[in-house]
Amino acid sequence: MKPVLVVNCGSSSLKYQVIDVASRESLLSGLIERVTDHSLAFEQMVAELRASNISPLAVGHRVVHGGSNFSAPVLVDDQVLAEIEALSTLAPLHNPGNLAGIYGAMKAFPGLRQVAIFDTAFHQSMAASSFRYAIDRELERKYSIRRYGFHGSSHSYVSKQAAKFLGKPTFTGIVLHLGNGGSACAIKEGKSVNTSMGLTPLQGLVMGTRSGDIDPAIVMYLANAGLSLSQIDESLNKNAGLKGMTGDSDLRDVQRRAQAGDQVAIEALEVYALRVKHYIGAYLAQLGEIDAIVFTAGVGENSASMRAQITKGLEHLGISIDTEKNQAASKSDREISPAGSQVKVLVIPTNEELEIALQTAELALKS
Ligand code: ADP
Repeated sequence: MKPVLVVNCGSSSLKYQVIDVASRESLLSGLIERVTDHSLAFEQMVAELRASNISPLAVGHRVVHGGSNFSAPVLVDDQVLAEIEALSTLAPLHNPGNLAGIYGAMKAFPGLRQVAIFDTAFHQSMAASSFRYAIDRELERKYSIRRYGFHGSSHSYVSKQAAKFLGKPTFTGIVLHLGNGGSACAIKEGKSVNTSMGLTPLQGLVMGTRSGDIDPAIVMYLANAGLSLSQIDESLNKNAGLKGMTGDSDLRDVQRRAQAGDQVAIEALEVYALRVKHYIGAYLAQLGEIDAIVFTAGVGENSASMRAQITKGLEHLGISIDTEKNQAASKSDREISPAGSQVKVLVIPTNEELEIALQTAELALKS
């Protein structure tokens, strides 16, 4: 057994899981909510681990923003802590909580190696043509403005699973991570070459409560109309996307309403699906020939009807799905395109915690 503790610490919650990397099985998981004191939350977690007789060999931490500094997992030391702290300007809602988690775990497990795994790291392989915005060079440099991309652990895990499924050494194709947050990723030979999220997780697809792509001038327009910056921020991050368009952030609720003939819900689903199509088209153009398109995360894994809506009309690009295969209830990696399809369409359940545990073990348990 090689148990690794995976910590996903936010500003007000602590999610953890112990995974045996030898068998890839989850041994224990927990969620502590409404955290006001991170030390207390860690004490509670340690007590829960002790009660289960589990002693982890290393700790892996999910850290949201690694900026341009981190393109791979790293062992935590003073320098790494300082850099994560400095990157808080780019992710004020996430990095401080992630950092509190690392300090909490260092105190709770002083003898263990701590590894930081960044959501942005997988996308550091993007070329400048994909990550640069066409803005004033001075501002771009001074404020480190560029596309960073997120959901890296998911895109990394899913693309490796896809390669395995297809019997290829590496994966070339498009991964659609459609959850409450969502992002598309263009992957060439196992490496991210483009992704839909940007400087922050606000850009790209229509999400549960986030707008995804909008004309940036909308922000100035609303500011001139009298809204404060924090009102605009709140609106675009928490009251936009499916929630903004329909009042419901959960795709299941929107689909239920659409089925009952609610025009508002029908239109929101069309906007959602068309945005995903837009990225499929863009990434096909960037990648050239691909092995597969992969659906993952809550919506991607579970919603046969959204998968059908997104892939409808793409037959001329060699992309189609088999209705029966698409609707089959299964929790394992599977193909939903007709046999012999030029471009395969796959459903692969993501497992970000397992990816973090495997990467942690690779770095912390090798020697
Ligand atoms: P997170 O981004 O929070 O990790 P998940 O990947 O768990 O989110 O996805 C959660 C979302 O998945 C829910 O908001 C819901 O809209 C969607 N979802 C889950 N199951 C289904 C389903 N059977 N049909 C449609 N949508 C679903």
